Amino acid sequence: MRRIYEAAAYQTPTACWWRETAPPVDYSRLEGDHVTEVAVIGGGFTGLNAALALAEAGVGVTVLDAEHPGWGASGRNGGFCCLGGSKLGGAAVERRHGTDERSLWHAAERAAVAHVRDLLDRHAIAADTHSAGETCLAHTPRAFTAMRASVPQVERDHGVTPDVFGREKLAEQGLAGQFHGGMTTPIGFALDPGKYHAGLRDAVQAAGTAVFCRSPALTLAPKGGRWRVTTPSGTLTANTVILATNGYSSEDVPGWLRARYLPVQSSIIVTRPITESEQARQGWTSDQMCYDSRLLLHYFRLMPDGRFLFGMRGGLRATRRSEAALARKIRADFHQLFPHWQEIDITHEWSGLVCLMRGLTPFAGAVPEMPGVYAALGYHGNGVAMGSYLGARLADTVLGRHFRGPVPRFVSQPPGRFPLGSARRALLAPAYAAATMFDR
Ligand SMILES: Cc1cc2nc3c(=O)[nH]c(=O)nc-3n(C[C@H](O)[C@H](O)[C@H](O)COP(=O)(O)OP(=O)(O)OC[C@H]3O[C@@H](n4cnc5c(N)ncnc54)[C@H](O)[C@@H]3O)c2cc1C
Repeated sequence: MRRIYEAAAYQTPTACWWRETAPPVDYSRLEGDHVTEVAVIGGGFTGLNAALALAEAGVGVTVLDAEHPGWGASGRNGGFCCLGGSKLGGAAVERRHGTDERSLWHAAERAAVAHVRDLLDRHAIAADTHSAGETCLAHTPRAFTAMRASVPQVERDHGVTPDVFGREKLAEQGLAGQFHGGMTTPIGFALDPGKYHAGLRDAVQAAGTAVFCRSPALTLAPKGGRWRVTTPSGTLTANTVILATNGYSSEDVPGWLRARYLPVQSSIIVTRPITESEQARQGWTSDQMCYDSRLLLHYFRLMPDGRFLFGMRGGLRATRRSEAALARKIRADFHQLFPHWQEIDITHEWSGLVCLMRGLTPFAGAVPEMPGVYAALGYHGNGVAMGSYLGARLADTVLGRHFRGPVPRFVSQPPGRFPLGSARRALLAPAYAAATMFDR
């Protein structure tokens, strides 16, 4: 597999908290020649949701993961199950794709959150959920003014009235800090992504799906009207193939993906459990999942066991030096926003790859000129809900049935290629510099 980051970006994280709450399971690797109806490449939320919907419809499915299911972003994220999935705001979606598509997109965002809630309920997955919707905190007075002005639009887009509160109300909400006010939109919840993924994985297997670990798809080629996937120790022949590799995609499996996705690092730290008196000292006692209004945003939440999770965008490189710089930066930002927690131990720390698309919206649909091959990817750092949902909706496409929920048409338009080919990461440096200026 030809990938665009340094090798370190593709290593297993050693200090990821979710690997302790939901230890990964190591299934056997694909050995010898196998045949299946649908081969799913990638065992994250997208791949497993597609697999589950197909298996529940009676289709024979085989999942291959290069490492193990949940090894990618699905086992490393912040657990915000929330609206999102695109980098385009609603107005930009409307300008590009029209009013109806904008409404369908917002309906899909809500349906995605409901989809995950339904999965947790239906499969009795205990995923330590908390938080009543999601709170955005204003990092400047100007951002708070914009937040207040956005209320009528949120009402039109989502049919709910967000709760906007000024700086003076932060402490009574248990959200005291460096912010200028906030806005809670009552859609979404937080979860332990490791536990959600493990429950999903068990449901997929209970539905009869075969799952293989340590089985990277190295080639994908047509063979007698079907597709043959080659791994280091076996082959899998399938009528249909679903690519669900998101930020861990490669340039050559298949070649169609080349330059159509842009992986971007995101990083997280988790503290030891913070006692109630330590929480009171900081004035942060709420279990709301929050993010700030910066373009290069921070996201954070107090988890049910008292640990604090704090995340932000990662670096542009995955070298030892840049990892060390990132470790310093994430600590500095955490301590600047939560100065009373300077002495609290940070026990876990990891990074992972999210996935941007050139059109700034996700893709879920048929791969052109590869009949029987489908892909879903590109959730712009918000794939807990949207990746799960579009994985399931991609299964509708494969089955040739009506979507079981709202899906805008633009999602199935094949994504364009980024400029600069395998050097396209270079596009991020000026974008980050501009965002840093804007965030001041
Ligand atoms: C640090 C971090 C924090 C995040 N926080 C949030 C959040 O709070 N809320 C939110 O909504 N989203 C968040 N995200 C994004 C979210 O995690 C992803 O959008 C989502 O998990 C994508 O799921 P996926 O199944 O498409 O891809 P992944 O989970 O990345 O899975 C891809 C899988 O494909 C496998 N693979 C790749 N190539 C091959 C191959 N050739 N053969 C076989 N297998 C292969 C990989 O091993 C991997 O397991 C975060 C991401 C990161 C990294």
